Amino acid sequence: MSLLVVGSVAFDAIETPFGKTDKIVGGAASYISLAASYFTQKTNLVGVVGEDFPVEFVQHLNNHGVNTEGLQVKQGEKSFFWSGKYHTDMNTRDTLITELNVLGDFDPIIPENYQNCEFLMLGNLTPKVQQTVIERLVKRPRLIVMDTMNFWMEIALDDLKETLKLVDVLAINDEEARILSGEYSLVKAAAKIQAMGPKFLIIKKGENGALLFSGKEVFFAPALPLEEVFDPTGAGDTFAGGFIGYLAKTGDISFENMKNAIIYGSAMASFCVERFGTERIIDLQQSELEERINQFKRLVRFNIGASLADGN
Ligand code: AMP
Repeated sequence: MSLLVVGSVAFDAIETPFGKTDKIVGGAASYISLAASYFTQKTNLVGVVGEDFPVEFVQHLNNHGVNTEGLQVKQGEKSFFWSGKYHTDMNTRDTLITELNVLGDFDPIIPENYQNCEFLMLGNLTPKVQQTVIERLVKRPRLIVMDTMNFWMEIALDDLKETLKLVDVLAINDEEARILSGEYSLVKAAAKIQAMGPKFLIIKKGENGALLFSGKEVFFAPALPLEEVFDPTGAGDTFAGGFIGYLAKTGDISFENMKNAIIYGSAMASFCVERFGTERIIDLQQSELEERINQFKRLVRFNIGASLADGN
């Protein structure tokens, strides 16, 4: 089933305890669509870059089956640029630079043949732009998943709340869930956020895994314990791409199937963090993904038989 991905396509400069990069290609929509491409060949991307953006990367996306007809290229302008630094604790990072450039006045134009998509993934962007995308779709997709960040909670909370009313799934990290809800308990936070609109809430906890909430139901997926996390940039977006890509492949949007989608998202994210930027997820083998899913299964499988009361 077809998937529409909207988000930043950008340059990033990253510093981690393991090294430092100059400007490399990043952006939420780059990670999301690459990750989704391992599940569905019907991914359509909407975004904007400047004339400085490398055509080779756009070709990589096309080779992955991602349609980039909706990627606007602004002549004479520069691409979005973000720079971040991670410390020893890779769960937190400092944003050093955010240069909006072309993203500053981004008007998300949806090409005619992107209409009637069944799945929509709204990457982290101004809530107003996210809302505009939904309004410009002639038919509401079956499932709308949205990412956002604390930055928008601070400067555009009212717009964010309006957009939240229109989406089915919100994917944010634990710190953002606490800020948005004003609750420290993630269970209470989940209830409050669901009352704002999304029927499903995914709370990402970095190396501590992810939680999926819907009504009274909750599911937990661990992150794969890795010997070395090299660069966590894009892990959240890669997770989201794997999640929605799997749902688009299977066409099943039940809570039960979302559990599987969360495991696939976590597996994709576990690859992303192994190298800088999109390096690791750009040419992943299907067999590597399958092996990682098996690792996840082994990680959480246990066999408790009779209850304690039955034993002696
Ligand atoms: P993640 O590590 O999954 O949260 O996403 C990292 C990606 O988000 C980077 O590649 C950045 O280019 C992109 N990014 C960072 N800040 C913003 C922003 N304010 N708007 C859109 N994209 C952003």
